[in-house]
Amino acid sequence: MIKNNKIISAAIVFAIIFFGARYFWIHKKFLQPQTPHIAIDMKKAAQKENVVPILIIGSGCAGLSSAIYGARSNIYTVLIQGNTPGGQLTETSYVENWPGSEKELGLQIIERLKKQAESFGAVVVSDSVISIDGSQWPYLVTTEEGKKINALTIIMATGSSPRKLGVVGEQEYWGKGVTTCAICDAPFHKGKDVVVVGGGDSAAEEAIQLSPYAKSVTILVRKDSMRASAVMQDRIEEIPNITVRYNTEVKKIIGDGNAVISVELYDNKTGETLQKEVTGVFLAIGHDPNSQLVKSFLKTDEHGYIEVQGRTQLTSMPGIFAAGDVEDYVYKQAGVAAGSGIKAALDAVSFLQSYGFNKELSEQMEAHFFTGESILRSEIKSQSNLKELEAIIAKSNVPVLLDFYTPFCPSCTQMLPSLEALAQKYKEKIVVYKIDASQSVDIAKRYKVGAVPVLLLFKNGALAKRVNKALSKKELNELIQGII
Ligand code: NDP
Repeated sequence: MIKNNKIISAAIVFAIIFFGARYFWIHKKFLQPQTPHIAIDMKKAAQKENVVPILIIGSGCAGLSSAIYGARSNIYTVLIQGNTPGGQLTETSYVENWPGSEKELGLQIIERLKKQAESFGAVVVSDSVISIDGSQWPYLVTTEEGKKINALTIIMATGSSPRKLGVVGEQEYWGKGVTTCAICDAPFHKGKDVVVVGGGDSAAEEAIQLSPYAKSVTILVRKDSMRASAVMQDRIEEIPNITVRYNTEVKKIIGDGNAVISVELYDNKTGETLQKEVTGVFLAIGHDPNSQLVKSFLKTDEHGYIEVQGRTQLTSMPGIFAAGDVEDYVYKQAGVAAGSGIKAALDAVSFLQSYGFNKELSEQMEAHFFTGESILRSEIKSQSNLKELEAIIAKSNVPVLLDFYTPFCPSCTQMLPSLEALAQKYKEKIVVYKIDASQSVDIAKRYKVGAVPVLLLFKNGALAKRVNKALSKKELNELIQGII
C-alpha cells in the first residue's frame, strides 16, 4: 500500500514537471511574438519622407530624459506626448525623493525636464501614437491626427495606467465620486466621509492628500497588512482623521444616479458584509503597463511589461528601446524611470551609429524630417459669476462649452492646450469658458459638478452633452464638430 502511494506520488510529480515544462516551452515558442527579420539600410532611409532618427513615445520622466540625451547628442529627436502629457508624476502633488530637489510639485519637475529637452532642440509634439508597423524598417508610426512618421529608432516610454476594481457601480459613477486622483477631487469632499482603496504608497499618499478636506478617510486594505513603506505608514498614523481597515474588499459602489452615496464592503476575515456611507471612492490599486502598441511584435512578460535585455534598454526588436514603467515592474520610481530613459537614448544613439548614421546622413535627411506642427492657440476666458454665465449660455448664438477644472488637476491641465487650439480653430463657431470648480462653488453646484474635469456643452441655451472625463484632442474635436 505504502509502495503504491510512493509510485503514485512520483508519477504526479513527474507529470507536473513534464506538463509544466511543456507549457513554458509552448508559451515561449508560440505565444510570444517571433522577431521578424528587419533589413536596416541607413542610406535608403535617407530618401524617406517624414523621417525621425530618435522617436520617443511618452512624455513622463522616462521619455523626457531620453529626449534630453537624444537631442544633446545632436541627433534629431521628436517626442510624441500622448494623451496624458507628463505622465504619472503630474498626478502626484509634492515629490520629496526626486534627486537634487527637496520638495517640488510633480508638474514642475515635468515642466523643467521638458524645457531642458527643448533647449537642446528636441521637438515635443502634442499628439498620440495609434499604431506602429513593426514589420518594416524604418518603423512606420501613425498618430491620432493622421501623421505618418518613419522612425529609425523608437523609445517606448508609454508608462502605465491606473488599475480599476471592476465592481458594480465603478463605471457608472466614474467622475461622479469614483476617481484615481485625490489631488484633483479632494476639494469636492469637504467635511465628507471618503474611502481610499489599496495598501501601497499611492493609497497612503491619496489619504494624506484627502485628510485636510474630508471629515474621515478610511483606507481599505484587502490583506491584513499594508504594502506601503514604513515612512508613509508612520505619516498616516499621525493623522487623526485617517483610519485603516484591513481584510476589507469593495463589492459594490452605490449612488443616487448623480453621485456616489455609499460602498458595500466585505470583511474577508469575518465574512461580514456592511454598507458605508461615503461621497468619494479613491482607487490606488496599482498600474498596468501601456504596451498595447507593440505587444504583437515585441516580447512582453505575462503581465504585459516589455522585456529588456540585461543591463540595456534594448527590446527584442532592433532599434526599439523601452524605458520607465512600461518595462520596469520592480522599482517604479520617477528617478529610476529617468535613468532608464537616459540609458534608452544612449542605446538608440549607439544603434544609429553602428548602422552608419552620421552627420552627413543626418544633413541629407534634414529636408525630410518630420517637424510636427506649430499650433495657434487662443487664451480661454474664465468665468466665476453664475448669473453672468447663465446669461451667456441663454443668449449665445453659437454653442457654449464649459470646462470645469481645479488648479491641481493634472488631466485638466493636460487637456487645456488642446482646448485652446480648438477654441482658436472654431473661434467663430463656439465659445469656450474655463471654470475653477474649487472657487466657483455656486456654479459647480448649479451644474452638479462633483469631480473634475467635466465638460458641458450647451446649444440654444440647453445642455446638449456632458462629459465626465478628460478627452484627447481628437475626441474634443469630434465633440465640437458634433454640435457646431
Ligand atoms: P502597489 O502595487 O505598490 O500597491 C497596490 C496596492 O493595491 C496593494 O496594496 C494591493 O494589494 C492593492 N490592490 C491591488 N489590486 C487590488 C484590488 N483589486 N482590490 C483591492 N486592493 C488591490 O502600487 P502603488 O501605486 O501604491 O505604488 C507603485 C510604486 O510607486 C511603488 O513602488 C511605490 O513605492 C511607488 N510610490 C511611491 C510614492 C512615494 O514614495 N511617495 C507614492 C506613490 C507610489 P496587495 O498588497 O494585497 O497586493
